[in-house]
Amino acid sequence: MRIDIMTLFPEMCERVYTESIIGRALKKGLLEINAVNIRAYTRDKQNRVDDTVYGGGTGLLMLAQPIYDCWRAVCEDMGTRPHVIYMSPQGKVLTQQRVKELAKMENIAILCGHYEGVDERVLEEIVDEEISVGDYVLTGGELPALILTDAVARMLDGVLPNEEAFSRESHFSGLLEYPQYSKPAVWKGKAVPEVLSSGHHANIERWQRTQALLRTYQRRPDLLETAELTEIDRKILKDIQENLDYM
Ligand code: SAH
Repeated sequence: MRIDIMTLFPEMCERVYTESIIGRALKKGLLEINAVNIRAYTRDKQNRVDDTVYGGGTGLLMLAQPIYDCWRAVCEDMGTRPHVIYMSPQGKVLTQQRVKELAKMENIAILCGHYEGVDERVLEEIVDEEISVGDYVLTGGELPALILTDAVARMLDGVLPNEEAFSRESHFSGLLEYPQYSKPAVWKGKAVPEVLSSGHHANIERWQRTQALLRTYQRRPDLLETAELTEIDRKILKDIQENLDYM
């Protein structure tokens, strides 16, 4: 998979994705990420990539032409038209489900806005999808683009040690993950739940599933409406509900 991030701040992006797990995946050649500088495509003598907004209002807007030319260069370099995503507070809020779908694509280009945003006409021309990272506004699309890139990259084959590393995690199957513990067995007088050291695989699994259901019920009950639940899960949930109501 190849992801090109179209941005005014390529170094900011590079600094993040070359670190840690994604950085190692890049070195192993499991995916390719490029940060492409939109400013390199300006035709303005002063290298301007933004200007005032028609109709008034504070702030500057990113111009259509440098973004369009940057996108054309990315298309040419990829040898195909990538799926273009504009990071935007007006987009659909990102979910693990959408991340899974995007991880199946071969070529993605992500556009990062800045200042007041981007001239609407270039969005109409090149963007396939707008994605938001939440209902709040940031100064630029770089952090959102890095969030999306990280979330997608960790789903690719070989990036994490095995499928279990992500399939049990929060949101993958629609539930939050159960609580986890490491050494020592007792810390500040708090012991790790006994069952986890029992070596009894089935009991451990049951405990983890019950805790995941309990957590989701307590913290994000909205997720239970769409989570993949078995008959046993539903029974456990009913017990949880009755016990909590009773308490
Ligand atoms: N004027 C715009 C906001 C611009 S914020 C509006 O009111 O809709 C500047 C840039 O930051 C945007 O172009 C976008 O790329 C990025 N951005 C800000 N908040 C974001 C969010 N919640 N999700 C994704 N991108 C966001």
